Amino acid sequence: MDAKLLMGKCAVVTGGKQGIGREIARTFAENGADVAVVDINLDGAAELETELSGYGVRAKCYACDVSDFDGVAAVVKEIAADFGQIHILVNNAGITKDGLLVRMSEADFDKVIAVNLKGAFNFTRHAGAHMFRKKTGRIISISSVVGIGGNVGQANYAASKAGVIGLTKTAAKELGSRGVTVNAIAPGFVQTKMTEVLPEDIKAKMAAAITLGRLGEPKDIANLALFLASDMASYITGQVIPVDGGMTF
Ligand code: NAP
Repeated sequence: MDAKLLMGKCAVVTGGKQGIGREIARTFAENGADVAVVDINLDGAAELETELSGYGVRAKCYACDVSDFDGVAAVVKEIAADFGQIHILVNNAGITKDGLLVRMSEADFDKVIAVNLKGAFNFTRHAGAHMFRKKTGRIISISSVVGIGGNVGQANYAASKAGVIGLTKTAAKELGSRGVTVNAIAPGFVQTKMTEVLPEDIKAKMAAAITLGRLGEPKDIANLALFLASDMASYITGQVIPVDGGMTF
């Protein structure tokens, strides 16, 4: 594969300070893209900027709560001014607040929807408008296999990730005529801080249920994000692509 697939592009990665988002930001930088990382706070941002700019690209971190509509509008404007143009958006920021449906609090439902679904809407809305004007762009949202199949204890999370799929398909239909592609990645079980809290026996059980016999790594997701962000994927839009080691099929 060409070592510089994203040369001359600017990518925004939400929730890019750790986990899957950080690996996507690193992979994009390695492949020539300038990267704007958006996260809820800037702890460790200087170290991340140094790591990313080590690939010879521009990198800057921005503090923003993805669930804040006006805050997202402002940060998109700031990034466009700093980098000139936003070519790629990755809606990656996400949280869990698990619990059985019949015991789930209103606050836990609302919070997960606000970050995972409204956050993706906010960035697709504002960065999408920018791409619409520029007549080019790539939007990639991180959904989940749980958004397709549901999961015990994750009514809020599964609903938010199913919502991301509806958002993706609608945005693909609305923005396609302007050369903007919109796709979603549905990861299975990926080893990050989000999943490290699970007990080892549960992780072992999950690994046993995966066809390829192992849990996913952030790199497994970043590789597909790189492909979808590149010119090689210019005829792919409105799709939801599982990356789950064969957990679902
Ligand atoms: P992670 O390690 O917890 O990283 C999520 C990042 O999002 C963190 O840097 C977090 O910051 C940031 N964030 C949280 N709330 C935010 C907000 N309101 N505004 C801006 N940034 C915010 O999670 P991950 O496992 O890498 O997951 C990344 C994405 O993949 C999520 O959308 C997740 O739902 C999805 N996914 C993950 C898996 C998996 O197995 N790991 C599977 C399927 C889908 P703080 O840490 O400072 O809060």
